[in-house]
Amino acid sequence: MKLDLDNSVSALGRVGQATAKRLKKLGIETVKDLIFYYPVRWEDWSQISVINDLKPDTTVTIKAKLQLINNRRSFKARKIITEGLIADETGLLKVIWFNQPFLTKNLKPGDEIYFSGKVDFDKYSLQLVNPAYEKVRAETIHTARLVPMYSLTDGLSQKQLRFLIKAALVAADQIKDYLPADIRSTNKFVGLKDAILSVHFPQNQQILNEAIRRLKFDDIFLFELKILKAKNELEQSLAEPIKFNENETKRFVDSLPFELTNDQRQSAWKIISDLAKDRPMNRLLEGDVGSGKTVVASIAMLNAAFSQKQSVLMAPTEILAYQHYETIVNLFKKFDVKTCLLTKSWALLDGLRSTKSQIIDGIRNGKILIVVGTQSLIQESILFHDLGLAVIDEQHRFGVNQRLELKNKSGNKQTVPHLLTMTATPIPRSLALTLYGDLDISIIRQLPKNRKKIETKIVESEKREEVYQFIKNQIQNGRQTFVVCPLIDPSDKLGVRSVTEEYDKLVKKIFPTLKISMLHGKLKSSEKEKVMADFSIGKSDILVTTSVIEVGVDVPNATVMMIEGADRFGLAQLHQFRGRVGRAEHQSYCFLLTESRSEKTKSRLTSLVTAADGFELAELDLQSRGPGEIYGFEQSGWPEFKMAKLTDLEIIELGKYWAEALLKKDPELVNYPGLFDLIFESVKLHLE
Ligand code: ADP
Ligand code: MG
Repeated sequence: MKLDLDNSVSALGRVGQATAKRLKKLGIETVKDLIFYYPVRWEDWSQISVINDLKPDTTVTIKAKLQLINNRRSFKARKIITEGLIADETGLLKVIWFNQPFLTKNLKPGDEIYFSGKVDFDKYSLQLVNPAYEKVRAETIHTARLVPMYSLTDGLSQKQLRFLIKAALVAADQIKDYLPADIRSTNKFVGLKDAILSVHFPQNQQILNEAIRRLKFDDIFLFELKILKAKNELEQSLAEPIKFNENETKRFVDSLPFELTNDQRQSAWKIISDLAKDRPMNRLLEGDVGSGKTVVASIAMLNAAFSQKQSVLMAPTEILAYQHYETIVNLFKKFDVKTCLLTKSWALLDGLRSTKSQIIDGIRNGKILIVVGTQSLIQESILFHDLGLAVIDEQHRFGVNQRLELKNKSGNKQTVPHLLTMTATPIPRSLALTLYGDLDISIIRQLPKNRKKIETKIVESEKREEVYQFIKNQIQNGRQTFVVCPLIDPSDKLGVRSVTEEYDKLVKKIFPTLKISMLHGKLKSSEKEKVMADFSIGKSDILVTTSVIEVGVDVPNATVMMIEGADRFGLAQLHQFRGRVGRAEHQSYCFLLTESRSEKTKSRLTSLVTAADGFELAELDLQSRGPGEIYGFEQSGWPEFKMAKLTDLEIIELGKYWAEALLKKDPELVNYPGLFDLIFESVKLHLE
């Protein structure tokens, strides 16, 4: 039977329900998904060493004949140990594996086998420990070559995934190259099918580099086509101007319990001027955590409300939406503006519980002027009466695609709403301009005057006792603490395991008398809100959490941010965690715990102590983070590429250039239906 790209993975041999489920965790459901699941790195096991030349502590590949193989039980280590003896023309070598007793069934004396792994020194002689192995044949996939390494999930091994991808690649012939021929030839790109085959199983480093170059280009090219198409559409569209109501705006600013910073004033003024035009605003408001972006957005929403136009504020999580809602209701106390919160689990109107249907009606008939919610909001069956302004918080990437959606829901088919995106991830201006074209940008660099510098310390894991003692003291003084845990492995995507383990440890061993709560991705939204709400009113002393709290969450009484495994996070992300404390008059602290002894890690973390602000950190982060790291920028709303990195400036320029050229020639992509479908398929994906 012919294998089809759209076949489910279970069409492949050796994929039962359990494996299918694990693959699904990685986002792989079809043969095509498998093919497009790229390695995160490659081990170079292509050089074959001979036994006689081996040195301890090196990683090698050996081609040898198996002489003996046996299992024995180690009572001390409670493990099954498989021992083998192998030989090539130059000598004999011992090989051992732990807990893989089935090996004696797969490998028989006399077999010719490649072994790849680390050479260890054991009492008397050298040996290979837990090497990868593969019988010698024309084409190997696990050894004796550049070997692909994939990001995995619990219960799925590299070997298994490699095997499945290899099997799936039979269908690679059906891959159509959507890249216009002239772009391919001018840039000497390899064809898509070849790039895919080589990225998984490269013949050599140069061929791999070519494949990577092609796939990176595709990332950028498609991204830019999407951005540019949306931009073209925008340039041809009109927006309803929103008048500046000077008196009421002044009344609002005077009603604030603080004075706006200069940067806030300037940004607000820019936005107000944008809104007054009949062209849709497309502005990005960047500002460090705590720089006060919400107030600026509120000024815009208030002006929309004064002209009876609706605004929507969308946050990436329910917690954030909830907090925004509370802030806004509080800010607009003295103004009569109907404001609602609508998320999967919440329906609030003017501070009171309401029903979803009541709120949806209110939005449709225009009585509700400000709508706060999550992105799921725009996927549900909401129609606005007259949407004038959309504000998107902390999720830059949904700016472009979602605007198309919003247009259809705005209640006014002739115009598109103004758009303001806000982010605390400091995208360097030059990069943002390169990626997004002529997007308007306002930056709030200046923090409010009353902010104290947060004391930041790097702590080696052995010294955590001191931090615990410190936390105890702070809590005795009435303060609260965040403990952030990194994900232990990718399969723990929701952080259930890492948070639960940390929580148990703190409750049972470290702080048995304190009140501790936990937050992770598996909790239902309503449970999360409850945990957060309880923490913010002081019902618990310590909140153990995943990176869920990364953006926005506001608990002024919290003064300690303890980050476990700090080296596993990006600098920009750590900076955001740190921004959760120091939100009131109390001196606050950030402890970065790390087990790493590497100087590079230390110096990277040290920049959190020395850098002036998030913008500097973002630049550093971009420079220092390599491919294949588990926690990239993706989580903080940077564009998501499968292969390209934000540091690939040359490719970014190239991709942009060709996207522009193509759209100039064929704005609707009529001659490139394959490309057209691809772009709109990804729009659909983003909306899911
Ligand atoms: P972010 O930019 O991280 O979204 P917020 O808008 O949540 O920041 O503001 C953080 C806190 O600072 C809020 O409690 C807000 O009321 C307060 N704030 C905003 N602007 C000022 C200011 N100019 N002076 C003092 N406090 C301010
Ligand atoms: Mg915010």
